[in-house]
Amino acid sequence: MPIYEYRCPECGTVFSERRRMSEADGPVECPSCASQAPSRILSLFAAHSSGGGMIAGTGGGCSGCAATSCSTCKAN
Ligand SMILES: [Zn+2]
Repeated sequence: MPIYEYRCPECGTVFSERRRMSEADGPVECPSCASQAPSRILSLFAAHSSGGGMIAGTGGGCSGCAATSCSTCKAN
């Protein structure tokens, strides 16, 4: 059974609840103030972290030479 996160607009409590998918958007009771107002929020567990891009560290000035002083380097 998936776990959903809810936030109570009355007291600001954020809590998670294990519920059936068909009941995910149904009324849920706040564990802090017993309000029936909490609404579902997106779970942090569903967020994907994307891998950072790799930076090639060749040290060259440009793709045309191994130094940093050719005509292509100066154009950059
Ligand atoms: Zn509450």
